[in-house]
Amino acid sequence: MISTSVKTTGNQYHIRTGKNILEKELQDALRDHATDQLFLLVDENVAKYHQDYIHQSIRGITSNWQQFIIPEGEASKSISCYSDTLDFLLANGIRRNIPMIVFGGGVTGDLGGFVAATALRGIPLIHVPTTLLAMVDSAIGGKTGVNHATGKNLIGSFYQPSAVISDIHFLNTLPDNEWVNGLSEILKYGAIHNEQIFKYSNIFLNGKPSIQDSDKLISLIDKCVKVKAEIVGEDELESGIRAFLNFGHTFAHALEKAADFQQISHGEAVFLGMLAAENLSIATGGTLKTDPLEPFRRLYKYRVPKEALSLDDLMENMNADKKRTGENLTFVLLNKWQEPIVKTVDDRELIAASWSIVFDEIEKNRI
Ligand code: ADP
Ligand code: ZN
Repeated sequence: MISTSVKTTGNQYHIRTGKNILEKELQDALRDHATDQLFLLVDENVAKYHQDYIHQSIRGITSNWQQFIIPEGEASKSISCYSDTLDFLLANGIRRNIPMIVFGGGVTGDLGGFVAATALRGIPLIHVPTTLLAMVDSAIGGKTGVNHATGKNLIGSFYQPSAVISDIHFLNTLPDNEWVNGLSEILKYGAIHNEQIFKYSNIFLNGKPSIQDSDKLISLIDKCVKVKAEIVGEDELESGIRAFLNFGHTFAHALEKAADFQQISHGEAVFLGMLAAENLSIATGGTLKTDPLEPFRRLYKYRVPKEALSLDDLMENMNADKKRTGENLTFVLLNKWQEPIVKTVDDRELIAASWSIVFDEIEKNRI
């Protein structure tokens, strides 16, 4: 088990990463709570595969718990599911000191975090991320929220958990596409902050990491957690360097929107977005001699038809991105690897050239 602490305004909590650690770490995290009652929020597929493991882990803590299942999929990050979850808590007698434990990927985590932030103005929250992406990214940093008909993540708040428990036991059942989804964010941390992460990511080059790679996987997840924890600790409310975590994401968000969030996953879009950002970095004066992303290119296979993507739409989507500031487009680019910088680029030709790298990549690696 590896532990990393995150500092937040007036508080601190731990992110514990390991294998088969759920029972022990839950006991630890709940030791100081003044109640023996618990609420569990569990992703539908996580309940399907891991219900017994979860229930065994809390058996030694309490028998006084209630569980609510969140239907799998992005549609659950909605006001209606938020409202259903609140109904469940309030109908079952939630009080200010009763913790809620959230088991799932980004969807359940973002939804559950927002519920925890707002029920009775805030109840204690423990995240148990069950996807690689959630372990390295969404469960850390306190962003919570749901989608609105007009866009993703438009309703939410910052709310820090009291603990995060990343137990790779859950990853045994993770679908193949979810592994590359998480890998992109891992490589992002390599690009913006810690060169070693590229080397440790070699465990992905022959498909998903095997049981023998458990220790390496735990260490890699923790390295990513440390990068995010450090950045978030310095900039909890995203007014400065937290923007570096958006490396590749201006392009990625535009791609996801162009594909209606259907034919491309966030991780696939982020990988392509990083290739584009790498290209734009070089075009605007960055010195990137090596290409550490290169060995990972073949791991990605794209479903989105190239014909569905037009340069005009993509440019338009980038303009509409809510993270845009002022009149020109801003990007997180690299002066050098591990040296990110926020830059405004107003040369449309340069941006278009970076998009053409993306088109070529999709063409080369389509399913
Ligand atoms: P993320 O945003 O982290 O990619 P989601 O919450 O969208 O994750 O979950 C992606 C998919 O993986 C969903 O269908 C979810 O039910 C499923 N899932 C989450 N954790 C596991 C797991 N440990 N094993 C199998 N499926 C899982
Ligand atoms: Zn992302």
